Amino acid sequence: EPKFKLRDVEVFYGADRAIKNVSLDIGKNEVIAFIGPSGCGKSTFLRCLNRMNDSIDICKVKGSLQLDDQDIYDPRQDVVELRARVGMVFQKPNPFPKSIYDNVAYGPRIHGLANRKSDLDEIVENSLRKAGLWDEVKDRLDSTATGMSGGQQQRLCIARTIAVNPEVVLMDEPCSALDPIATAKVEELISELSESYTIVIVTHSMQQASRVSDRTAYFHLGHLVEVNDTVKVFTAP
Ligand code: ADP
Ligand code: ADP
Repeated sequence: EPKFKLRDVEVFYGADRAIKNVSLDIGKNEVIAFIGPSGCGKSTFLRCLNRMNDSIDICKVKGSLQLDDQDIYDPRQDVVELRARVGMVFQKPNPFPKSIYDNVAYGPRIHGLANRKSDLDEIVENSLRKAGLWDEVKDRLDSTATGMSGGQQQRLCIARTIAVNPEVVLMDEPCSALDPIATAKVEELISELSESYTIVIVTHSMQQASRVSDRTAYFHLGHLVEVNDTVKVFTAP
């Protein structure tokens, strides 16, 4: 059973059709990369998976979009709950202007995942460990997140996302704002996370797709033109 079953999806911005009849299954625990030229609809399609486009009034989504057996666009669907199950990491690292601890604790607090301070501490530590950040930040959890380097901020945003135990992590060009060393760290992290989560990553880089993904979906002018197993030509044996 696929994680997502997406059938005949169309997305409109007013009268403009940005996604044209796209059908795609996304498997549990696969990493799929969306690739294609700027403006082809990758980000628009990605945002359908957790209704991140809901706030755009002129944006209308048609077709059948299912997460497990649930209709993502069912009016009864609780969008906050959906976004905990299907988390999102953006191109530009966007930590809250709060402490490192509070960034990671934010979701677990909202969703009531920890009754005691010690439980919350444990979630924060585990999330930061999974994001490969714990050793770097354990002595300054009270420092402001916006004082970290860009790469650290992005890994913090990943820790914040996984702190609520999502099933899926969506990433919209997560390395585009990072330098090569920070990019390599985030790519390594994506490979580690792929053991535990379904990951959908938008990228404009074939090399990045080949390094991190199992399958690659090629978009062009709002169409999904091809889906293939990713050829790992750039990956060392
Ligand atoms: P990126 O390619 O880095 O995702 P964009 O410049 O495409 O950034 O988009 C940035 C923001 O502008 C997004 O929120 C997107 O929805 C919005 N946007 C993009 N294209 C248009 C458009 N034609 N009209 C209005 N808003 C747009
Ligand atoms: P990509 O992620 O592949 O760069 P987008 O999904 O951002 O492409 O954009 C697909 C198309 O939808 C583009 O023509 C873009 O201008 C348009 N678009 C994106 N966001 C908006 C928006 N908020 N309002 C109007 N048009 C938009």
